[in-house]
Amino acid sequence: MDSSNKNNLDTPIQFVKGVGPSREKAFADLGMTTLNDLLEYFPRDHVFMPSPVKMDQLRPDEPATVLGLIEQTDINQFRRPKTFKAVIADDSGTCMLVWFNGIYLKNQLAPGMSVMISGTPKMYKHRLQFTNPKFIVVNENHTDVDPDILAGAVYPASSKLSSRQIKNVIGNALDRLPKIVPEYYDTNFLKKNELIDRPRALQWIHDPKDEDQLAQATRRLKHDELFLMQLGLALRRYKHRHFSPATPLTCTDAIDSRIRKRFPFMLTPDQDDVIKEVTEDLAGTVPANRLIQGDVGSGKTVIALYAALLAVANKTQVAIMAPTEILANQHFISIERYLKGAKVKRTLITGGITGKKRKELLSQIKNGELDIVVGTIALVQKDIEFKNLGLVVIDEQHKFGVHQRAKLRKDHSPHCLVMTATPIPRTLAMTAFGDLDVSTIKNAPPGRGKVVTRWVQPHDRSAALEFIRKRLKAKKQAFFVYPRIDAEAYETQTPKPGGSPLQSKGMDANKNASPKANSTTNHESRVTNHDLKAAIQEHKILSENIFPEYNVALLHGQMKSDEKKKIMKSFRSGKIDVLVSTVVIEVGLDVPNATIMVVENANHFGLAQLHQLRGRIGRGQSNSYCLLFADTDNETAVSRLEIMTRSNDGFEISEHDLKLRGPGELFSARQHGLPDLKLANIIEDFDLLNLARRNAFELVKQDPTLNQPQNKNIRKTLIQKFGDKIGLVDIA
Ligand code: ADP
Ligand code: MG
Repeated sequence: MDSSNKNNLDTPIQFVKGVGPSREKAFADLGMTTLNDLLEYFPRDHVFMPSPVKMDQLRPDEPATVLGLIEQTDINQFRRPKTFKAVIADDSGTCMLVWFNGIYLKNQLAPGMSVMISGTPKMYKHRLQFTNPKFIVVNENHTDVDPDILAGAVYPASSKLSSRQIKNVIGNALDRLPKIVPEYYDTNFLKKNELIDRPRALQWIHDPKDEDQLAQATRRLKHDELFLMQLGLALRRYKHRHFSPATPLTCTDAIDSRIRKRFPFMLTPDQDDVIKEVTEDLAGTVPANRLIQGDVGSGKTVIALYAALLAVANKTQVAIMAPTEILANQHFISIERYLKGAKVKRTLITGGITGKKRKELLSQIKNGELDIVVGTIALVQKDIEFKNLGLVVIDEQHKFGVHQRAKLRKDHSPHCLVMTATPIPRTLAMTAFGDLDVSTIKNAPPGRGKVVTRWVQPHDRSAALEFIRKRLKAKKQAFFVYPRIDAEAYETQTPKPGGSPLQSKGMDANKNASPKANSTTNHESRVTNHDLKAAIQEHKILSENIFPEYNVALLHGQMKSDEKKKIMKSFRSGKIDVLVSTVVIEVGLDVPNATIMVVENANHFGLAQLHQLRGRIGRGQSNSYCLLFADTDNETAVSRLEIMTRSNDGFEISEHDLKLRGPGELFSARQHGLPDLKLANIIEDFDLLNLARRNAFELVKQDPTLNQPQNKNIRKTLIQKFGDKIGLVDIA
């Protein structure tokens, strides 16, 4: 390696002073192989301690730092709160330390250790005492230590590399910073956005003199992370729009009124607004890429069908795709209801259709004889060739890239609408879905009954069951839903704000409900034996002991798809009064007469999922009741239940959800093909996210290929971070 290579960010870490071949692996284990990795290995904490003074210089009520030897420790078990005490000394005197609730310190502090203490001492019983001071263990066997080396950055360490060792190596690299770290922006930009330059930001994040430097460094580096992410989205959007043109689907008054005649009701103002946005998109040659969000039951199917009929009127084909066969089937049924007697040729294609029949269907699609094709995403993408696909409607599958479009149609891009019932909080709309246009249906169609939600505790259970009996007597229907039983772990998890994706198996139930790719793909296969057992057992109890006079049926994920269809059909027609199920009914079942939803062990469900479940009811004119059966005093479970009883607003609920769970689980950058965020947090840094987004989209407007000389560094960094995912390479 020649020396010119040692001065750029790709320089292998072994060329940094203090690393050498033997340490190289230890750094690699922490994810660092280049100089850039090293510089972006950010401290997890900073310790700012003023220089220590001697004990005899301490004054009551004046903040100070002292360095001393622990002479004695003591636990007071009997006092409330339990306290941990220590006496420390230097050659000038002694002082007292007290930590309330500090029992845990008995494993960290012991006589003979040197510690540095920071806080404000007070007089107590004629002695100076620090209460709950900050401390660092300087040395466990009381040799003299230079206190200067204690302050500063603290790094996530490993067994082979201590924070101190990492700090030293980074310190060596920092000397070369100004030469090797490129600045992305010009001076005006920095000034306008109140950002410090990047080399200085890196210097200060690793070695700040004070809190202010740290804050400025953090702001600049967070901005960069968010900016690069938004730039990726802006470019992805640009690419979508310029990949290949779409067929314009124009809407005339005649077409519009012909389509509206299909609906047995007036469209709501919200539906009209969204249709206006959609028809504007579809009329252009830029392929539409729009997310339509609206709570369950808000009337999205109508929008999808409107767009589909518009595409058909323009002599193009439409693919309507759902994540699962059950859902595809549901869509087909509801579309059929509206299209009775219409000339539009439509079909449902499932895995069950095989042999000759399948061949025939596929050839009709290829010849353009079929107008609307409903199926699962996997199926449609895999083996269907269209003659002239004008529009793709996708349900609950949030990502549909340029490549997938290209697969469906070679010469042109189809327009694309994505439907989601999972309300997307603003933060996510700007990040994970930041390259899509978003339309929102806020208000459900009129004439619906209220949905009342109650948390039912064990002592109210039998009263609740009697209440249900009355509703059943009035010919209403009820759902009983059971959670995954291994979701037990769910409520014992304490969600960390900004935490990482939780790995527990028990989180799966909750993960299903998150608005990310594949969110609903695997419902059927996820159902475990445990669920099944619980549901089977409950079905038995309900049908034999509790509601023997009613028809109680069981629906679960391991049933054959024909069997499931049959049961759902009888429920829809009212032959079944009570449907006991595992979470498979979460999406797609539209039965206005079902006005009761019981969720058993509701504390084991996440907010988003509870809200989805509740969306199954409240579709008719009479009032509906969502009864959350739960026996819990877990704090987050209780707050979920309280939010549910208080609010019916999906957006409010999803914002709460995001706060309760942190963005980690809902938003994993990597999953969306974006670089990970190390410092920034999309919830806490929302303002900065806004700023970075504006800056990034503005830049792409001015220089969509980033080929202007002043954007050279940004371009290079972007390619480094995204690889070819961003498609920057092909636009150039
Ligand atoms: P989503 O797909 O958003 O869950 P749907 O489109 O299935 O909602 O609509 C839910 C119910 O509301 C359906 O029964 C549908 O017939 C009805 N609906 C939709 N739009 C209207 C409207 N404008 N007026 C009255 N009822 C409507
Ligand atoms: Mg729907």
